Amino acid sequence: IERTFSIVKPNAVAKNVIGAIFNRFETAGFKIIATKMLHLTKEQAEGFYAEHKDRPFFNGLVEFMTSGPVVVSVLEGENAVQRHRDLMGATNPSNALAGTLRADYADSFTENATHGSDSTDSAAREITYFFGEGEIC
Ligand code: ATP
Ligand code: MG
Repeated sequence: IERTFSIVKPNAVAKNVIGAIFNRFETAGFKIIATKMLHLTKEQAEGFYAEHKDRPFFNGLVEFMTSGPVVVSVLEGENAVQRHRDLMGATNPSNALAGTLRADYADSFTENATHGSDSTDSAAREITYFFGEGEIC
């Protein structure tokens, strides 16, 4: 059993699809073992995406991620990291397969509706960034 970290990004929260996205997680067999809503500060968003700080899209990404509330969650399931990324679809929504979360809810490359950890190491780091052990059920 594996854990991964999810963010429902500000554009998806704004279009009222938190419940639809959670339904897709649960239908796919994930257990939501921690969740909360928060409005990221600039510092939190910059720290979370630090690996991208020299990329041309970084400032726009931070501006977007701080533009409104997000929902951060920990998902648990078999092969959770890869299965969650499959459910999300390609990072660039133009390439996202039909039926994926990004095909359904993305508005642009940056405003692509959801985040998911890209490895078990990233998942552990990202979960610790937002949750204490006492917040995970
Ligand atoms: P995420 O980390 O959000 O799950 P990912 O791992 O598929 O997505 P990354 O390469 O880690 O993609 O990029 C992080 C986020 O930065 C993307 O989800 C997207 O919002 C934004 N992003 C990445 N590449 C671009 C780009 N070329 N142009 C605009 N935005 C981008
Ligand atoms: Mg990533």
